[in-house]
Amino acid sequence: MKEYLMISACLLGVDCKYNGGNNKLPDGILEKLAEKYSLLPVCPECYGGLTTPRLPSERVGDRVLSSDGTDVTAQYRKGASAALLLKELTGARLALLKENSPSCGKSRIYDGTFSLTLTEGDGVCAEALMKNGVTVYGESEAEMLL
Ligand code: SF4
Repeated sequence: MKEYLMISACLLGVDCKYNGGNNKLPDGILEKLAEKYSLLPVCPECYGGLTTPRLPSERVGDRVLSSDGTDVTAQYRKGASAALLLKELTGARLALLKENSPSCGKSRIYDGTFSLTLTEGDGVCAEALMKNGVTVYGESEAEMLL
């Protein structure tokens, strides 16, 4: 039986990105990942009830704000909880998540100024998964999973 790999849905080509697009990985990498793992698509922002397209959001301390100042922290937390539930249901221990995202980013995220400036930090969902024992990789590290 293949091991589960949680993967940001936008990396699979699902048009769930805030602007209605995606961040699809090259076909060759996706095929190799699918050969080795059972892929579990996750989009925490969709799971949290946010629509697509939507305004971009960034973490500001413990909160997440959209570019118009709307507080979407509750939706981000709800999405992270849903991803955690998926992890509990499947026993997944690995995740490949979109870098820099306020939900999925690991180690570096945008700094809350909406100026494309990165700072140290994790997205809300990535942080929750890592706190609960999931090893998270960013898409630039995908080859490490093969
Ligand atoms: Fe991709 Fe994650 Fe953003 Fe969803 S929340 S669009 S999976 S980066």
